[in-house]
Amino acid sequence: NTFAEIDLGDALSENIRRCKYVKPTPVQRHAIPIAVAGRDLMACAQTGSGKTAAFCFPIISGIMRNWMQQPMPPHGARTACPLALVLSPTRELSCQIHEEAKKFSYQTGVRVVVAYGGAPVFQQLRDLEKGVDILVATPGRLVDLIERTKVSLRMIKYLALDEADRMLDMGFEPQIRRIVEQMDMPPPGVRQTMLFSATFPNEIQRLAFDFLSNYIFLAV
Ligand code: AMP
Repeated sequence: NTFAEIDLGDALSENIRRCKYVKPTPVQRHAIPIAVAGRDLMACAQTGSGKTAAFCFPIISGIMRNWMQQPMPPHGARTACPLALVLSPTRELSCQIHEEAKKFSYQTGVRVVVAYGGAPVFQQLRDLEKGVDILVATPGRLVDLIERTKVSLRMIKYLALDEADRMLDMGFEPQIRRIVEQMDMPPPGVRQTMLFSATFPNEIQRLAFDFLSNYIFLAV
């Protein structure tokens, strides 16, 4: 019933304490152990339910665990190759996730970059060139960055879709499908996918069928 009971690694646990998170919210209590165990997940989560931490903690702890097994690849390549991708519908939500994710990854070596549309691309390109482990992005801007070969998704190990129903309402389904197709290009990597949505119309269930494998459905 406390974060101390979940093994997320020392650095992340320290950051969770620093953020004054003691007790997991219901979605965190159920989603984090499932995701840390490596399972795909579709979770019902409203705004304010604590879903940001529910997908950020497993991603950050997973990246750090991978680093213990294999050395950190060099950053600074011309094409950024993030290990984790968080897709979110709007600039506001993307910036919020970015701010939270930066606090959670403080002093872990995990780099978080945000890219959203409706703003000049220059600063985002500069941030990407410095290296990125977790990319938080809106679908349209990400497709643009992929087409400019500024971002490659071939290293992606973790994919989180936040507010998936809102992304579909905003007409992002073609972009989302193009993005996921990039990750499914051979050689097939192992990808863990987490889908968060407040509602579950047929379109969302179809996305889950297409993108998730052997997933756990969480309704809290
Ligand atoms: P979210 O639903 O992820 O946007 O989170 C809503 C708000 O609750 C944010 O301000 C979080 O920082 C905060 N929050 C999330 N989880 C916890 C927790 N376990 N303990 C305290 N605050 C939290």
